[in-house]
Amino acid sequence: MAITTKDLQHLFALIAEDIAAQRDHLCELDGAIGDGDHGLAMDAGCEAATKAVGGLDPAQAAPTAVFNAAAKAFLNAVGASSGPLYATAFMRAGAAVKDRPELSDEEFVRVFAAMAQGIQERGKAEPGEKTMVDAWKPAANAALDAWASGTSLPECFELAERAAHQGCEATRDMTAAKGRASRLGDRVIGHIDPGAASAAIIVASMTNFVRRLNG
Ligand code: ADP
Ligand code: MG
Repeated sequence: MAITTKDLQHLFALIAEDIAAQRDHLCELDGAIGDGDHGLAMDAGCEAATKAVGGLDPAQAAPTAVFNAAAKAFLNAVGASSGPLYATAFMRAGAAVKDRPELSDEEFVRVFAAMAQGIQERGKAEPGEKTMVDAWKPAANAALDAWASGTSLPECFELAERAAHQGCEATRDMTAAKGRASRLGDRVIGHIDPGAASAAIIVASMTNFVRRLNG
């Protein structure tokens, strides 16, 4: 089933709703190993992106324009390091489906993988460095692998959601090599990375979106 601009507008609204519901929790996680603003940053970014995307005319705006609008709004709304990381994710998502009037299932998998790749390249973090990459990368790989072996889109995202959740949990035992938490050495062990936690929320929102599309 084709994914339209209208569907993507709903997707951003879903993500913003789920992030808003976890805003305080994300701030608490960031309070333990960062500066405590991650929930506020993600909430502001997702809300701004949803508003910008919602203002587009679905009859005029292609998916690439949706992702570009989201990137710009997110970047403008967020001063924290998650700002440029997610702005890059959305830019790459848009570039991955350039000139497509709507998205096939395969293109949506490509969008998802491009987001993860963009975050990794922008932040130059490798898996194991206690960042959002520890959730995004395994999630993207799970979806790509599953898609390549003929798995349906909803099942690909179920697997991605599980991988993101596990990747997020795994950050608990890591020391941080990137971002603010990298200054705290072993003191961050025992705490989940806030960026990995918000990433797992976003992947779960995307999974719900795919489930609804096919439901
Ligand atoms: P800030 O640290 O500027 O306050 P946020 O609180 O919004 O920014 O986001 C913190 C999160 O950003 C971290 O938990 C981590 O997941 C992520 N992060 C920080 N630096 C990087 C990086 N270089 N690559 C990927 N993710 C990063
Ligand atoms: Mg912070």
